[in-house]
Amino acid sequence: MNDRMVAPQLNPGDVETHLRPQVLDDFIGQQAVRENLKIFISAAKARGEALDHTLFFGPPGLGKTTLAQIVSRELGVGFRATSGPVIARAGDLAALLTNLEPRDVLFIDEIHRLNPAIEEVLYPAMEDFQLDLIIGEGPAARSVRIDLPPFTLVGATTRSGLLTTPLRERFGIPCRMNYYTPQELELIVARGARVLGFDVTPDGAAEVARRARGTPRVAGRLLRRVRDFAAVAGQSPVDAQVADRALTRLEVDQMGLDAMDRRYLKCIADNYGGGPVGVDTLAAALSESRDTLEEVVEPYLLQQGLIQRTPRGRMLSAAGFKHIGLNPPSEVLV
Ligand code: ADP
Repeated sequence: MNDRMVAPQLNPGDVETHLRPQVLDDFIGQQAVRENLKIFISAAKARGEALDHTLFFGPPGLGKTTLAQIVSRELGVGFRATSGPVIARAGDLAALLTNLEPRDVLFIDEIHRLNPAIEEVLYPAMEDFQLDLIIGEGPAARSVRIDLPPFTLVGATTRSGLLTTPLRERFGIPCRMNYYTPQELELIVARGARVLGFDVTPDGAAEVARRARGTPRVAGRLLRRVRDFAAVAGQSPVDAQVADRALTRLEVDQMGLDAMDRRYLKCIADNYGGGPVGVDTLAAALSESRDTLEEVVEPYLLQQGLIQRTPRGRMLSAAGFKHIGLNPPSEVLV
């Protein structure tokens, strides 16, 4: 399940380092975020201060980690990375924080998964650059206060709704990341081909972009596989026809849906007359977990208007029926 070609999350075999843009000017899309960051970074640099704590939130694969690295590079400071679930004890966080150089960036991915006790330690660290630690246990326990260098916490989350209010409020610079337009993805694909060292025509890049689900990570993965097909077939440059043939063989259709997505749509159409059907029933019918359906399969189908979420369950839209080659029943109007 988690090695789908179109998964927005990192798959075990993905190698992404080469494709990451290194500076803000090379980062394509997310214009509002980029422009704001540019101003805040140059203001912080001019004052010689740490950048305010920054939160990137939005779906996986849209460039949150990449931007965090770019922020530290543009600031000319060090970059340390960890993730919410990895920090098991307050001491782990203390070790990270006390090892920072002034103005460094500490990146915490999946920050919504921080353990609440550790989150408490983070509050004074973010607010006053101080660490309050309890040393020892029982009557001998005492609290010590450690001064920290000023630093920038950059948090990333796919689920900003799960962030506690006190944590969210401590980020001075919240940045929402949106899905990319096909035009932006086309530029990302063309740049990716240049970095990977092969030729793609504009319509070849557009073909990959159109099927990449608004997500640069998916675009990068599709591009690598298209490159393999083209290389084996001795076809250069990669044009729309070559890209289409490769992606069709990979079962990624015109809209970027894969076999799993189509199985989901067909299940609602064939077994439940187009719905409404509850997500638990669907999960059982498809032998997938409810979480997988809700977090991995449904967001893109919803965004594309192929399904609808109603209080009584999931329903296929007219576009959803058409996508799997069926005529929508007359009562399905949209
Ligand atoms: P996230 O942290 O949001 O899951 P990443 O920063 O790890 O996403 O990005 C996933 C992949 O997509 C990386 O290979 C990265 O280079 C690429 N990528 C993301 N955003 C862009 C962009 N704006 N331009 C070019 N490549 C991008």
